[in-house]
Amino acid sequence: MKYIDLRSDTVTQPTPNMREAMFNAIVGDDVYGDDPTMRELEEYAAKVVGKEAALFVPSGTFGNQLSLFTHCNRGDEVILGDDCHIVAHEVGAASVIAGVQLRTIVSNKGELDPKEIENRIRKADEDIHFPGTGLICVENAHSNGRVVSLSIMKGIYEVAQKHNVPVHLDGARLFNAATYLGVEAKEITKYCDSVMFCLSKGLCAPVGSILAGSKEFIDKARKNRKLMGGGLRQAGVLAAAGLVALKEMINNLKIDHENAILLGEELSKIDGVKVRKEDMHINMVFFTIKDTGCSSEKLVQGLLDKGIKINGEENGEIRFVTNYWVSKEDVYHVVNCVKEILN
Ligand SMILES: *Cc1c(COP(=O)(O)O)cnc(C)c1O
Repeated sequence: MKYIDLRSDTVTQPTPNMREAMFNAIVGDDVYGDDPTMRELEEYAAKVVGKEAALFVPSGTFGNQLSLFTHCNRGDEVILGDDCHIVAHEVGAASVIAGVQLRTIVSNKGELDPKEIENRIRKADEDIHFPGTGLICVENAHSNGRVVSLSIMKGIYEVAQKHNVPVHLDGARLFNAATYLGVEAKEITKYCDSVMFCLSKGLCAPVGSILAGSKEFIDKARKNRKLMGGGLRQAGVLAAAGLVALKEMINNLKIDHENAILLGEELSKIDGVKVRKEDMHINMVFFTIKDTGCSSEKLVQGLLDKGIKINGEENGEIRFVTNYWVSKEDVYHVVNCVKEILN
């Protein structure tokens, strides 16, 4: 049975071109630096985000945590938003791997106030009680569906540079953010020292993310990646799909965004469904069904019976995510099914 899967864009299957590229990939032992396809992906990825070097990592979480681990010393403080993925969805890894303290600040729908950040920056030698600020993290696109403006990115980077603190961008959906802003990814990543982005979300690669930054940073990260068990051998089979992701799939994201807006608009016409329309920047639609009298469990099961997979509520909201394998026709079909279940 073919399902329409709206749980996430992580569910995307590789495209036929990816499978072909993986089948034909020339590979070598990447821990020895012998994998030509991986070399090509890392060089290409660095160029796409305007950084000196890049490193393939198994997942987005791995890339973020590797970045914290590489930028910071144990006991450093990392300033970041209270609703970001690193705080909310990475299993507390920052305390286990990098051994850092997360200093959260209130996020206004994903946007952090540069002044608030500046107020929190501390130097270890200032006071016997103080940890030093080792890193500032920004998330864009934010997993709440919104894109952070370039002016905020710039403001944060200026504050960071003034105080000589590096900035890491969790850009799991960097290319969705670039698509929304109508700029190249480089225009966003010029406001950070390191960036992680996922190949395996909307870009459809089966596995992998990229961490990019200065050559010095990536050299150090490559060693730390080995420590974390992320030294991969004939990883060119994965890199081959990653190259297709970066060369062929970025332009498709605007269709995912259009489909998400269509989905949000149509869902909002259903009685009692409240869609967070102002936050539909990327491929996500958030809504509540409390006023319909239907429980989210009933909606999940009802849709599953009709061949549509969705996740249950989180924080009282349901999230639908469009992706390459969800067509406009699928969107209309989903809306009709939701209507049938709620009415
Ligand atoms: C998905 C995601 C990650 C982590 O990626 P995984 O590959 O699932 O580990 C990190 N940050 C954000 C914002 C994400 O959406």
